[in-house]
Amino acid sequence: MDTAVYESPYADPEELRPDAVELDRGLLTLEDGELGAGNFGTVRKGFYRMKKGDKAVAVKILKDGGGGGGGVGSGGVDEAVKEELLREADVMRRLDNPYIVRMIGLCRAEAWMLVMELADLGPLNKYLQKNRHVQARNLTELVHQVCMGMRYLEEHSFVHRDLAARNVLLVTQHYAKISDFGLSKALGADQNYYRAQTHGKWPVKWYAPECINYYTFSSKSDVWSFGVLMWEAFSYGQKPYKGMKGSEVSAMLEKGERMQSPEGCPAEVYDLMNLCWTYKVEERPDFAAVELRLRNYYYDISN
Ligand code: ATP
Repeated sequence: MDTAVYESPYADPEELRPDAVELDRGLLTLEDGELGAGNFGTVRKGFYRMKKGDKAVAVKILKDGGGGGGGVGSGGVDEAVKEELLREADVMRRLDNPYIVRMIGLCRAEAWMLVMELADLGPLNKYLQKNRHVQARNLTELVHQVCMGMRYLEEHSFVHRDLAARNVLLVTQHYAKISDFGLSKALGADQNYYRAQTHGKWPVKWYAPECINYYTFSSKSDVWSFGVLMWEAFSYGQKPYKGMKGSEVSAMLEKGERMQSPEGCPAEVYDLMNLCWTYKVEERPDFAAVELRLRNYYYDISN
């Protein structure tokens, strides 16, 4: 295991974790070319100079200036997009787990930049589309890692709300990390779900019925999404409910129908997907239970 990415960069006692997580632009170098893009701007590869040497990073760069005037609105940058980036940074700052992409910090210079550790092999769905030789045991290993990351989020009362294979990034073919906390929410002490005020741009094919019907999101609704993510992994990055509209998916689920097993998917894994797709929240297992089942299954097939 590559310990440089397994451990937090701030595990080094000599490395000061910046409280305000504001990084020094002078220590950051950006490479040409893009790792990805979205409506927020672009993601580029770079290096951040730390005490123990340069750390490979992925940098989410907001389009437009970054507060220097001009552009949209008074801040010079689309305020809603900036707010989302700051919220994402605020969630990531509080997380520390080997199976979750770590934030190094925020940098405000020629643009607002969110600096994260790099997961070089990119999104799981795209990787599997190009690498059909990956074996079922390897897929189980990866989804189990995602499940351990999700168990950590559940234990710390964070709801991800955008768990999908496109948001799982690979460090190696045997090491996955959860990313994209743009929709995530921290739940309050006496709260076990988050209620959205309005229906936004939602990844409805990954959402549990209660998200669509009542706008409520909990770790249990992340469990539903995790079932879809397992389906994507064992289908080698195919799109779930292909060719169907969101409303058609809902109607199918309300009738008690579920996606069929991907070809060659072990029965134990498909059974677990179906368990994640339990209609009633109170009957659906939590990540602690799903992780235990996956762990036992993975150990069984590894021996
Ligand atoms: P939006 O926030 O609008 O939904 P998005 O979800 O596509 O956009 P991200 O997933 O955060 O945005 O990033 C876009 C792409 O950049 C990813 O699909 C991935 O290819 C790349 N990327 C993001 N973070 C990293 C990282 N830490 N390491 C390597 N590549 C990354």
